[in-house]
Amino acid sequence: MAGKCSFCHHRTTEGMLPACVGTCVTSARYFGDLNDPDSDISKKLASGSGEVLNSDLGLSPSLYYFDLSAAEAMPDSVA
Ligand code: SF4
Repeated sequence: MAGKCSFCHHRTTEGMLPACVGTCVTSARYFGDLNDPDSDISKKLASGSGEVLNSDLGLSPSLYYFDLSAAEAMPDSVA
């Protein structure tokens, strides 16, 4: 059975972080309210390095990647 990420709705509506964000030992994921300029994710995006996939499609997704260009340049066996 395939499942789709729910952004851990059952956790975030209770004030908790998504499970994958809260347990990531390398802090590879950020989660927060983009409408709150004081949230960690807003501050991270303000640094100017956030990118979205397929930006040419103009879909305005709310999932951003950092250092995406560097990751895309890696060989598949490394990325
Ligand atoms: S743990 Fe992460 S990937 Fe899985 S549903 Fe929650 S937010 Fe989505």
